[in-house]
Amino acid sequence: MTKMSWSGAWLPVLHRLPDASSDREVALTIDDGPTNSTPGVLRILGRVGAKATFFLSGERMNRHPGIVRDIVEAGHAVYAHGMQHIPLEGEPAERIARDMTEAEAILAGLRPTPSPYLVRLPYAAGRRLPAVHKAIRAWSPTAQIAHWNASTDDHTIAGRCTDEADIRALSAAAVCRLASRRDLSGSILLMHDEPVGIPSPFVPAVTLTLAEMLVTTLSGRGYAFVPLRPIRRPPLLSRFILEK
Ligand SMILES: [Zn+2]
Repeated sequence: MTKMSWSGAWLPVLHRLPDASSDREVALTIDDGPTNSTPGVLRILGRVGAKATFFLSGERMNRHPGIVRDIVEAGHAVYAHGMQHIPLEGEPAERIARDMTEAEAILAGLRPTPSPYLVRLPYAAGRRLPAVHKAIRAWSPTAQIAHWNASTDDHTIAGRCTDEADIRALSAAAVCRLASRRDLSGSILLMHDEPVGIPSPFVPAVTLTLAEMLVTTLSGRGYAFVPLRPIRRPPLLSRFILEK
């Protein structure tokens, strides 16, 4: 649903890959890492030359600095997903800026800070709130909100599993659902590297099983996994009209 901002508060919001250079291109975005599952995910991506975009949690980066380095060295795009994975709606602007600054400071030692900066909001909270867009613009004037159009819904899988067979069956169903989408070319796919806050012992296995099935299936069908890229010239009107 369209939402207006007469003061021009909206940042550009990505739902699909802008300027698709070919069909059969997708951007896989992986939120909430790094975790002990990340090395396995990197191996899966590396086998087919897939490049992903990681939105990394500051607290988890502090726990796994070596893994963050491995992600960057493997050529994947990395952005901060805040320090504490808190929903930003309702937070004061200074708190939002501090959350991003602290998390990006960890990454800035490993690669130049990207501009435009792509921001993946924890829980997508505040995606349609002018105050959150304004706070992020104040932090980084050219920032863009990195949303998605095709979620694996992997954060719901572990909670529905009672054994290993469930992990495979539910992951396969999620991949099948995505792979059969007619608008898959140019999609921004969402999955998690062990989603934050899911109390299930199956979480790591879901991450690895799903990554394996997703990457194998789509690359087998000729899809290339490319890093998410910003909109090159956001139309002026996009500051006033939020489409979705
Ligand atoms: Zn997240």
